[in-house]
Amino acid sequence: MITTNYHVHTHRCNHAEGRDRDYVEAAIAAGFSEIAFTDHSPWPLHPYEPGMIRMKLALLPDYVNSLRQLKEEYKDRISIKIGLECEYYADRMDWLKETIRKYDLELIILGNHFHEYEHHTRYFGSYKDKKNLLRDYVADTLAAIESGVYGYFAHPDIFVRSLTHWTQEAENACRMILEACKEHHIPVEYNLGGVRSRFFEFTYPYPRFWEIAAEVGNDVRIGIDAHSPMDFHDKKSIDDAISFLNSLGIIVDDKRI
Ligand SMILES: [Zn+2]
Ligand SMILES: [Zn+2]
Repeated sequence: MITTNYHVHTHRCNHAEGRDRDYVEAAIAAGFSEIAFTDHSPWPLHPYEPGMIRMKLALLPDYVNSLRQLKEEYKDRISIKIGLECEYYADRMDWLKETIRKYDLELIILGNHFHEYEHHTRYFGSYKDKKNLLRDYVADTLAAIESGVYGYFAHPDIFVRSLTHWTQEAENACRMILEACKEHHIPVEYNLGGVRSRFFEFTYPYPRFWEIAAEVGNDVRIGIDAHSPMDFHDKKSIDDAISFLNSLGIIVDDKRI
């Protein structure tokens, strides 16, 4: 059983369902004591970026206002943090820092989906430039970690989706990422969204990645990555994740962030 979850979306990202309130009610019903809304961040988009899988910039005030109301209304029953799931886009980090300040955001989680900008060839889950996949993924991850902006790393093994076989280079990449997270006290997330759509061998959560996390001694969290209020009630995925991680010697950390 876990009682905290730092990865919750809202309908604003165009691929999640339900009202904000429904997520809160579902989390309470499922026994959670603290959640963070970390919907897919808007970014000031370049003209060639589709931005279809994230909220529009204009929706950010509504997102924050709605969650502030719920935070206050439910404060005796559940702690609600207001945050965002953000890529690391070097050219727009000033905007992100200003947005955190302006809206008083409490948690930014790293969702390292794209390299430099949003385009399907740049998606780390199906990266076109296979030769440089690991180099680019590790570089973005380390830069993000060192920026000090991110407090949690969502699906850190997302790059596995772009692999066709496991290599020593992949092994080294995992170790570099995990050691940096440990050094900077950034929890790494065993992502249940990946579990819910696990159709391939090379996908996340990838068992070998978590074996290495056990060796490195990371702070490991289970992230529901809720795109529906119902995801809070998927107790089997949570129990299976805990059992698997325990079998590696990882005790899942459930402390509040
Ligand atoms: Zn999503
Ligand atoms: Zn997410």
